[in-house]
Amino acid sequence: MSSTAIAQHLIDGEFTGEPVKERRNPARPDEVAVVSASGTRADAEAAIAAAEAAQPAWAAVPAPARGAILMRAAELLRSRAAEVAADLVREEGKTIAEASGEVGRAVGVLQFFGSLGWAATGTTYESALPGTTISTRRRPLGVVGLITPWNFPIAIPAWKTAPALLSGNAVVLKPSELTPMSARHLAAALHEAGLPAGVLNVVQGSGRTVGETLAQDDRIAALSFTGSTAVGRQIGRVVNERGGRSQLEMGGKNGVLVLDDADPRRAAQVVASGGFGLTGQACTATSRVYVTPGIRAAFLEELAAIAATYAPGDGLDPATAMGVVASDAQLERDISAVRNAVDSGATLLHGRPESDGLHFQPVIAVDVEHASPLAAEEIFGPIVAVMEVPDYEAGLAAINDSAYGLTAGICTTSLSRASDFAENAHAGVIKVNRATAGLDLHVPFGGVKDSSSGTFREQGHTATQFYTWEKTVYLGAE
Ligand code: NAD
Repeated sequence: MSSTAIAQHLIDGEFTGEPVKERRNPARPDEVAVVSASGTRADAEAAIAAAEAAQPAWAAVPAPARGAILMRAAELLRSRAAEVAADLVREEGKTIAEASGEVGRAVGVLQFFGSLGWAATGTTYESALPGTTISTRRRPLGVVGLITPWNFPIAIPAWKTAPALLSGNAVVLKPSELTPMSARHLAAALHEAGLPAGVLNVVQGSGRTVGETLAQDDRIAALSFTGSTAVGRQIGRVVNERGGRSQLEMGGKNGVLVLDDADPRRAAQVVASGGFGLTGQACTATSRVYVTPGIRAAFLEELAAIAATYAPGDGLDPATAMGVVASDAQLERDISAVRNAVDSGATLLHGRPESDGLHFQPVIAVDVEHASPLAAEEIFGPIVAVMEVPDYEAGLAAINDSAYGLTAGICTTSLSRASDFAENAHAGVIKVNRATAGLDLHVPFGGVKDSSSGTFREQGHTATQFYTWEKTVYLGAE
């Protein structure tokens, strides 16, 4: 039995804003999953002002004490993980296992950056000048804006918020309007952990109103965005035009190359996990597969058998293998892309261009034209386009012939092919015999080409570079 969740803003230490906007549970359209506040420009500006006022005192707090607050927030989030995961399923539609994993990820991210409060920072250099040492230190930027998508509604806000706060910045976060409650849970944990008022502000609402205000306001020194390429490029132009710093992590069209020497079952598991896990609604999801002739038949047989086990259902039922599509607009994109591929000659080995509500069966479309939307554009559904290539070289060329460059994978037992692929596949993350989706939290993450601004990496130690600037100090003895 669920009760309707309420997601307000957090502005200057107060949860405020009338809850007016309903979000229905995509698996149960009759159920209102959450009612959220809907911010105005004035709300966004109040949040920025609160952040600006709070930031200097926060930056003066010793880094270990800032980190300790992140650690306490991690414990609070862990203690309510079951409730947070269930709310996440209700607003986003993924399975409870996936949601629990994501909440665990957010806990881990808070712990990781919390521990960095004790880490060594800066470098000491010898100087060419006598009696002089040179050292570098990293300073916070001030107020940073964070704009996040719906598909990882607590992990992405956490992996931006934690390094921003640890580095001594104040934050204004605008989560996706489809998933306000997950961000609300993150904010509550940090607030209750003792974060001073104004250091973290969350403004719920639309991209056009709240998001654009963050992009345009000169008081936002840096803006980190994750979302679609079209919106990201637009935001990047606005921030760069006014001299701000931007970080854009955007769409993907992630390919996997399956070579004759791979084990067909193992390769099918890698592709299915990357393509159908998270309902294919991951920036790192596998959406195109290039297969060499000798393994094609066995691989497709295995893949079809596995696809049949990914029946869509209500994510709150622990037996559900795959969650539902998150919205009607997303479903429309999925269906029209599949229909278009069929019209231009592709064969469907599994799934159809139709759906029962938002319960959409996984699709395997074979012999899709390389340039067709299903093979070339980000669709963001549980849909895998399969194309045959004559050999490794043609497969690598096809992987690289894409506007995107987020993740790329290869299934092979050849060390030399794997090494060559790791070197020459043009993507920010390379996976050898592992699903394209799924990331460790302590290593750099980001794309190239249309997947990223390519400016700064997220996650791991590298994440703090975006949220700081570097100062070089020459210290003479006298
Ligand atoms: P989206 O671009 O529609 O929205 C992302 C965020 O931007 C939302 O909070 C939205 O409200 C806001 N926004 C929309 N228009 C805006 C505007 N004009 N000004 C300011 N903000 C605006 O993306 P989405 O549908 O929420 O998420 C799916 C997309 O996110 C996919 O393209 C996916 O690949 C991408 N994604 C990328 C990564 C990554 O790390 N590369 C991770 C997850 C998702």
